[in-house]
Amino acid sequence: MRKRSRVTHLPEVRVPEDNRPLVAPIYQSVKFTFDDVEETLRQWNGQREGYYYSRVSNPTLRQLEIALADLQDRDACLLTASGVAAIALPLLGLLEAGQHVVYFAELYPPTRSLVRRLLGRYGVRSTMLTLSDPDSLERTLATVPTRLVLLESPSNPVLRVVDLERVTAAARRHGALTMLDNTLGGLHNHGRYDVDLYVHSLTKYASGHGDVMGGAVIGRRELVDALRDDAINLGATLDPHAAWLVLRGLKTYFLRWEAQCANALRVAQFLAGRTEVERVRYPGLPADPGHELATRQMDGYGTIVTFDLRDGTDAATRFAEALELFAITSSLGSTESLVVPPALQQPRGLDASQAAWTGIGPGTVRLSIGIEDADDLVSDLGQALARSAANDA
Ligand code: PLP
Repeated sequence: MRKRSRVTHLPEVRVPEDNRPLVAPIYQSVKFTFDDVEETLRQWNGQREGYYYSRVSNPTLRQLEIALADLQDRDACLLTASGVAAIALPLLGLLEAGQHVVYFAELYPPTRSLVRRLLGRYGVRSTMLTLSDPDSLERTLATVPTRLVLLESPSNPVLRVVDLERVTAAARRHGALTMLDNTLGGLHNHGRYDVDLYVHSLTKYASGHGDVMGGAVIGRRELVDALRDDAINLGATLDPHAAWLVLRGLKTYFLRWEAQCANALRVAQFLAGRTEVERVRYPGLPADPGHELATRQMDGYGTIVTFDLRDGTDAATRFAEALELFAITSSLGSTESLVVPPALQQPRGLDASQAAWTGIGPGTVRLSIGIEDADDLVSDLGQALARSAANDA
């Protein structure tokens, strides 16, 4: 063979069977081959293990699926290229024209939009409720046959905690499936509740370093497997390199979660003592309406702290700009602390009463707490509160 051919058909370097890498390698290959057609066909037909094309399956993705399903106490997981793809997939894969979905005003805005705009175009009916009126779910399920209830706990950004036992029991009684966006809840939480599908944005806590996007749908095998063909054909597959980065992030998941939850509690306690702050929402605070439920349902209260500044949007903008350790940007679960001021999170596409349901007011600020030193975070928040008030004078 000449160099031109040799360089495209390199000799394979094999690691001996008794000599394993400590860190699992990335299978950064789109294609996998067998020596003959018969074995390829057997793999296609599910008669033997193996891989053929990475949009269908890939060993690095398989490794991550196993890890995430285990964290969530289920036996199956399907990976997607982003968190919203993980939300969109069951909506497209489970629902038919004429069926009905219940969702909530407090949900992540693109989820609301997927239900209203995308599903609406395909003839799926929907009813939007508020998490702050739990009785309305029971009433709706009793009057409208419903295929799916979509929820988040704690909700983003105002951290309403949902009674999962009550909601899942109501859905089960009325023959509806439940899908919980558990991104804020954490990968290890809520597994003991009778939720049919969990979805996660892996962009947040799973990777933890703000450098990779991904999503996961987790549930019992037959339900997740029913979505696989649509997932393969829709093509929003996670790339093996992204899956490997998430696997790397997962190794420190509990360390980060615990450190960030402890920092968040410290920040919430600090903000609760400040006169500039009208209200702090953090389920870890005993005064929070979700405290009792979150204590029962969750291990750790989460790393988001949301609060309302008395002086409204302008003061909150000054506050966010005065912060030195917190970056003004979206997303959460990174090692760095982040801030979203009210000007960047006002509800869109909702009428006034629905917008009120979201709980986002003119002074609502969302903090995502990182792993910095808690004293530094508190002193940064203190100086920014002082500066935003001083500028008002
Ligand atoms: N669900 C929640 C609760 C989120 O906060 C986000 C992103 O902020 C998503 C889903 C979407 O995730 P991604 O950005 O990975 O698509």
